[in-house]
Amino acid sequence: MPWIDKNMCTGCEICIDECPVGAIAMVDDKAEINMGLCIRCGTCHKVCPENAARHDSELIPEEVENNIEWVKDLLTHYTTEKEKRGFLKRIKRHFLKEMKVNEKTLEQIEEMM
Ligand code: SF4
Ligand code: SF4
Repeated sequence: MPWIDKNMCTGCEICIDECPVGAIAMVDDKAEINMGLCIRCGTCHKVCPENAARHDSELIPEEVENNIEWVKDLLTHYTTEKEKRGFLKRIKRHFLKEMKVNEKTLEQIEEMM
């Protein structure tokens, strides 16, 4: 999913004019994408003169960090080593399930191609 790097956006509004579904609006003089409306057409990446419309693969390290912060926060609710290990096993199953959902989804997308 595309996202706007607000430090790079100059607020020229080109992407707003070019987005085919009106998914981009100005918020505090910077472009912002409404992910619920975005159809992932890639136009904003192509038209932004500042390269401020970024690709979501760049967010992987940040998302991993957020996940780890979440796990660490939940871990504080457990006191004994046994409880902590049990929690870590359960949360691992959660992420494995997410991985499988993504793998199966990718398989079906491949079939559509
Ligand atoms: S085209 Fe680029 S610089 Fe212009 S408003 Fe959109 S994101 Fe910002
Ligand atoms: S990817 Fe397409 S639909 Fe999504 S915000 Fe960019 S221009 Fe709009």
